[in-house]
Amino acid sequence: MSAPARPGIVYLVGAGPGDPGLMTARSLELIASAEVILHDRLIPAGALAGARDDAELVYVGKEPGSAAMPQREIEELMVARARDGRSVVRLKGGDPFVFGRGGEEAEALAAAGVDFEVVPGVTSGVAASAYAGIPVTHRDDAGAVAFVTGHEDPAKDESALDWDALAQFPGTLVLYMGVGRAGEIASALIAAGRAADEPAAAIERGTLPGQRTVSSTLGGLADAIAVAGLRPPAILLVGPVAARRDAIAWLESRPLHGRRVVVTRARAQASGLARTLAALGAEVIELPAIRIEPRLDSEEVRAAVADLHAYALVCLTSPNGVRLLFEAMVAQGRDARALANATVAAIGPGTAAALRERGVIADVVPERFVAEELVEALADVDVHGKPALIARAAEAREVLPQALRERGAKVDVVALYETVAEEPSPDALDAAQEADYVTFTSSSTVKNLLAAVGERFPSGARVVSIGPVTSAAAREEGLTVEVEAERHDPEGLVEALLADAAAEPRT
Ligand code: SAH
Repeated sequence: MSAPARPGIVYLVGAGPGDPGLMTARSLELIASAEVILHDRLIPAGALAGARDDAELVYVGKEPGSAAMPQREIEELMVARARDGRSVVRLKGGDPFVFGRGGEEAEALAAAGVDFEVVPGVTSGVAASAYAGIPVTHRDDAGAVAFVTGHEDPAKDESALDWDALAQFPGTLVLYMGVGRAGEIASALIAAGRAADEPAAAIERGTLPGQRTVSSTLGGLADAIAVAGLRPPAILLVGPVAARRDAIAWLESRPLHGRRVVVTRARAQASGLARTLAALGAEVIELPAIRIEPRLDSEEVRAAVADLHAYALVCLTSPNGVRLLFEAMVAQGRDARALANATVAAIGPGTAAALRERGVIADVVPERFVAEELVEALADVDVHGKPALIARAAEAREVLPQALRERGAKVDVVALYETVAEEPSPDALDAAQEADYVTFTSSSTVKNLLAAVGERFPSGARVVSIGPVTSAAAREEGLTVEVEAERHDPEGLVEALLADAAAEPRT
């Protein structure tokens, strides 16, 4: 099924267990098109990033320590918005019908005569287990799996659950909401005949950065949880399959597992690097030190774009520069053909890729991503007496314009954007204190980050730099650069970091 959210309909949507990559295609489509989104607390970070700018986002979940919006009010709100003819997404963690009160909400909608659809999500009991290396079923020792609420106190007489039957259940037990009651739950199961030495596990923050798994036996589970200090959200799992983690655990064997890596790029650019690092197992902390402020309405930009066809050479020095040059062109009703007369030079592969996306194959791309290399790569291009345009950031090195002027070019340097300092969020800064690595992708991120954090620069972290210019800036700020990329682009930086992590065992 694939179509945007329709007016007057409520979609009960599962957002999955926490890893944004486990959101379904359908959930993303509905989030992107809904006019109203009512969401819980346990939804993946950035789950709402794709929502419409004009969408009404209502948080209806429970903050730890404060009251949630009462269930009846949530239901009334959904009904009211749908009756107003709006498209409504009710976004819940995991699957909406697995301990999510989605069933009640569907009944309320049905009773009110409001149309609705249900979009299943990946439920945490299955996903957290999978990320822990535990298959909830297995041909050899689990032909059934039960999802059980651990919310109720098994010692109470009015417990709605039949603990005797659960103890006899011939398969894996997956308990939600039970981490605080692990002791009572284990006692009830053992008292009813489940073996105390049966393998068991508890999985905290499954599929999220920093997921933790404790392996034990049913009898030892509560102590193991207490020793590790596991807290909600977590699931408990009881069954022989829990022992298969020994052989299957894969999450912990990813190359950057357990490493905390700070990414200091501007938020707009950081996501690619952050995603790559996270996929390698790192816990990524985004601490953007700079922000890109476009400067497209300046007279110099307007004039350069109006005369674009007159330049013999156009140099672009960042993917942001490419993006903004094209924005400025479109604003004047122009397209890639304005570059038809020019030799187009890109400072590196990322910039060249940004050009290619817009239909322009760069004529000159140096292999290494610094201004000196671009100067060299341009050696064969005849610029004498010819107009050349360098479109770039406001604050940049003078190497390229100088070299071209020395060769007789008539150089115009145009600032398409400015990089301005960004105040780091206190939470991110706290998290960064324990970092294993801090990555720098430009000298401006070095300068701005140090200006912003000062004494709170994580003292135990190894500094990773994208190349010699950035390294020099870091040394100037008194940092020791432990790792420098050989290829001066984000992929090269990741490669260098991986090599260092392999050589530097975790302490
Ligand atoms: N509808 C959700 C469950 C909601 S009940 C689903 O299908 O997953 C909330 C409980 O879900 C938590 O107490 C915890 O037991 C479990 N849970 C949710 N997210 C989790 C996660 N990322 N890791 C482990 N358990 C999680």
